[in-house]
Amino acid sequence: MIEKVLLQFWRHGRFALVLFVACAGSVWAQADHALGVPSTSPVRVVATFSILADMVREVGGEQITLTTIVGRNGDAHTFEPTPRDARALAHAQMLVRNGLGFEGWLPRLVQASGFDGLDVVAATGVQALRLGEDTAHHDGNLDPHAWQDLSNGVVYVRNIAHGLAEVDPGHAQQYWQRAQAYIARLQAEDRAVRDRLAKIPAAQRVMMTSHEAFGYFGHAYGIRLISIVGISSEAEPTARTIASLIDQIRTEHIHALFLENAANPKLMQRIAQETGVRMGGMLYADALDAPEREAGTYLGMFRWNMQQLLATFSP
Ligand SMILES: [Zn+2]
Repeated sequence: MIEKVLLQFWRHGRFALVLFVACAGSVWAQADHALGVPSTSPVRVVATFSILADMVREVGGEQITLTTIVGRNGDAHTFEPTPRDARALAHAQMLVRNGLGFEGWLPRLVQASGFDGLDVVAATGVQALRLGEDTAHHDGNLDPHAWQDLSNGVVYVRNIAHGLAEVDPGHAQQYWQRAQAYIARLQAEDRAVRDRLAKIPAAQRVMMTSHEAFGYFGHAYGIRLISIVGISSEAEPTARTIASLIDQIRTEHIHALFLENAANPKLMQRIAQETGVRMGGMLYADALDAPEREAGTYLGMFRWNMQQLLATFSP
């Protein structure tokens, strides 16, 4: 090949020289990759929504560049991908998704983008809960909101670290060090949540929210949940559903209703008005808040949600 290029150089001068340098460059790049030499360019990772993105950022540090498909305060249930998302995925080396049927729009996007990197399903290995039988939430009957239990968050972080170490083995040690430090913080917060709730009598630990996002949270931390709609954030309840909810609020002595950042607030406000029950604070379910706000990280989301709940559980 070199002889041929040199012959071209002889015939066509500068154009052939540029061609030769470009070929040599690509040969070196391939050799570098094949030998597993640590690359200096960051790993291109795509995360499907803001909560996963925060975990990926904690583990990946400066070794990655990260694109988030459904951003902060975004609703992953009603999301519609754009050509921009397909372009990001086309160039990605690794995709991190929740799984459990959460990202219904993802298979089509993956196919359209031609993505051929490592596909990491963060919820792999968690004990999946099922949704109530009367629901038409997501696809199938699995409850996808597993991140609302911090011990599942630990499983997510391990899966993310495994994925990064596989795609970029030269930095595996850094990924695992950061993952271990982060897991220690998640476990400390998990203990703090349990300690704080243990002081509240069980009968007072009841929460009512507008979509079934807190099943894992209630299951892990001993909180009884009443879901207003029992279906996805896009659903509209009937007048009969509202009437029965109002009955339930009165018989169960519910103190407060909670709004979620990615859900439609009108329904909750209407029920609060009709029952005289006050509105509790905003809870973060499927998306993080702006980065400078308390619920701007996965851990901060738990601290924030706990403050809102404790304020209403306490007499
Ligand atoms: Zn949800």
